[in-house]
Amino acid sequence: MLKTKELTKSFGKQTVLKGITEDIQKGEVVVIIGPSGSGKSTFLRCLNLLEEPTSGVITFEGIDITDSKTNINQLREKMGMVFQSFNLFPHMSIIKNLEIAPIKVKGMSEAEANQTALSLLEKVGLSDKAEAYPGNLSGGQQQRVAIARALAMQPEVMLFDEPTSALDPEMVGEVLKVMQDLAESGMTMVVVTHEMGFAKEVADRVLFMADGVIVEQGTPEEIFDHPQHERTQDFLNKIL
Ligand code: ADP
Ligand code: MG
Repeated sequence: MLKTKELTKSFGKQTVLKGITEDIQKGEVVVIIGPSGSGKSTFLRCLNLLEEPTSGVITFEGIDITDSKTNINQLREKMGMVFQSFNLFPHMSIIKNLEIAPIKVKGMSEAEANQTALSLLEKVGLSDKAEAYPGNLSGGQQQRVAIARALAMQPEVMLFDEPTSALDPEMVGEVLKVMQDLAESGMTMVVVTHEMGFAKEVADRVLFMADGVIVEQGTPEEIFDHPQHERTQDFLNKIL
């Protein structure tokens, strides 16, 4: 569904991605782990062209998205992204936050957008917060809204960049639960996270990234129980 071939990204003289060739299958949950500064966010941001690759090819559903003729906005509609910071629209109620893009961008009717929004709020356990404002919600609740808002566009892939890193510890579980439900519903997901429990439980495949390359990858068992590379072993020893 989503492929990269020899993907590189440089910022000035610094090469942050050094030739990444990957293939993400439809319905797959891929978790990316690795030390800070290794290029995980840059990789995710290249996938939906928030960063322009320096070289290499990215194809999404068989189409070369690095081609200058690609309609980036259309592409982004198919890829939901959730960041560490929730970035909800603070002056809009929760339900409005979910309705706005489907109406403005997809041309969905208000009634349909409202129906979709309500059913998504139910999915993330926040039906009672439809009329609340972001500022009145906890961090965990805001992040669940951010996930629902991304889903309101009916994306084909969801990209998550450390979605629980900014949360107080007691709120991490509720967000991971929503992500796990989403994974079980068959959504294709690429998740950068330090939550190794989630990676073990939910990932189909784990990629260990360091210094702009994917050092090794495999099933959660392979990576966590039998890491082959010293860099992977060192990293896991430090965090587990
Ligand atoms: P990670 O998410 O694994 O912590 P990042 O992808 O955020 O790593 O960053 C990888 C490297 O790229 C870091 O050295 C970072 O400073 C650099 N970098 C990321 N984004 C930019 C940018 N917009 N401009 C310059 N350097 C950047
Ligand atoms: Mg990052």
